Amino acid sequence: MSTSPPLHSGTTNSRARQNILIVGCGIAGPVLATLLLSSPQSVARLPQVTILERNTAALGSGQNIDIRGIGKHIINILGLTDEIKETTTGEEGVKIVDANNRIWAQYAADKTGKVETGTSDVEILRGRLAEILLGKAKRVSKDVEARGGAGIEFVFNDTIEHLDQDDDKVHVRLTKAGERSYDLVVGSDGLHSRTRQLAWGQAQDGCLKQLEMYGAFFSTKKEAADGEWRSWYHSPRGMSVMLRPSGTKDKSTMLVLLADKSGAIAREMRGSERDVVLQKRLVLEKLNGIFWQESRLKDAVRAADDFYFDCTAQVKLEKWSKGRVVLLGDAGHCASPFSGMGTTLALAGAYHLAGSLISHPDQHDLAFEQYEENMRPLVTKAQKLAPGMPHLFHPQTFWGACLLRIFCAAIYWSSIINLLSRFKGPPAQVRKFKQYDFVVKKEI
Ligand SMILES: Cc1cc2nc3c(=O)[nH]c(=O)nc-3n(C[C@H](O)[C@H](O)[C@H](O)COP(=O)(O)OP(=O)(O)OC[C@H]3O[C@@H](n4cnc5c(N)ncnc54)[C@H](O)[C@@H]3O)c2cc1C
Repeated sequence: MSTSPPLHSGTTNSRARQNILIVGCGIAGPVLATLLLSSPQSVARLPQVTILERNTAALGSGQNIDIRGIGKHIINILGLTDEIKETTTGEEGVKIVDANNRIWAQYAADKTGKVETGTSDVEILRGRLAEILLGKAKRVSKDVEARGGAGIEFVFNDTIEHLDQDDDKVHVRLTKAGERSYDLVVGSDGLHSRTRQLAWGQAQDGCLKQLEMYGAFFSTKKEAADGEWRSWYHSPRGMSVMLRPSGTKDKSTMLVLLADKSGAIAREMRGSERDVVLQKRLVLEKLNGIFWQESRLKDAVRAADDFYFDCTAQVKLEKWSKGRVVLLGDAGHCASPFSGMGTTLALAGAYHLAGSLISHPDQHDLAFEQYEENMRPLVTKAQKLAPGMPHLFHPQTFWGACLLRIFCAAIYWSSIINLLSRFKGPPAQVRKFKQYDFVVKKEI
């Protein structure tokens, strides 16, 4: 790997190689790095990229996510379609079940990928996707280095704690690696982006629009009855549970959704957002008396080493860049898990940002403008959630949950679901999108 850029290094001279810091190695970060190094420019002109990640490696955790429409084109451009398709979860569709596991409605996935149903034709575990994308970035980096370029510097187990910028540079302080300067900084550090907080300051207050709902994602040992369908159970008190296939023989995945209209969970979590012991205790309390798979769910929560708990929210900002800092993926425009579009938006954002920077290598302000122009319409559509999401799908009473199942059954039997999927499904099918001259070697 390349060495770190020296303190306050580089120039803004249009002939110099740019150095770019990408904060966050989740989904969007490694794709941006890969595409920035896949420009048709001579290797000497390729930017020097640093990826900063607060975890010790790309987090192998996270459960089922979907890649849809334009996201699949980008995976194809990266040459990763086969690798990803070999490792999808194989989910067949969604079944709405009651406490006795009776099926009230079932909506099959559209395996052609033409209609955006609840289950995409490309469903994959987030951790697996993150590892595949990081693997590609590492291989591309090695290839660039072998050709005399700078490649990517990977800085794990560190974070950003200070940021300021002048006309020429962004100056940052990393907790362990110390002070550095970059031409550009990209915040792809997720929903609670530190980059966004540091660069926008108070101007970003209020940009996180809470959906008054929390989600706990974790794995459980697969049981014979689990099958390849997603089972979705709605319980009173604003809760629902999804049991889903993982694509492996030994593991199923669970998602517990908890409505928090009163704000009680938010108050309990305040200041301890990353305390897994507290998160697990809270979820275990809520699972008391859920009636469906209760003891299995509780055992799985206690045993989970991949437990991930967070609020569900959307990020709404008027502008995604400030000077030489730009936001990407959830950090700039999270649409929430209810949109089914988070990963697709992260991929599309990385594609347009890399393309815009390559098209305007010496004019970051123009590049950021073009990136936003290309992404904004897709984000605006994705942030419009399906009717009733999320609270109509999380009733408070026993009778409310029964009514919801009857409603789902009516939609199923009347075949309205086909129309709803066609016109109200996740808006990932983009007929025309801007093409850039990426040269991604499929074989590496
Ligand atoms: C551990 C985890 C599990 C998830 N599980 C699911 C799931 O099961 N289902 C679902 O729908 N969505 C899940 N998500 C969210 C989903 O990955 C995103 O909505 C989507 O893929 C957008 O990707 P992103 O790259 O913008 O953000 P993310 O995938 O959230 O990646 C952000 C990255 O930035 C890193 N980071 C955060 N703060 C800092 C910091 N201060 N310094 C350095 N690095 C930082 C994070 O560790 C992470 O690697 C999960 C996210 C994470 C981080």
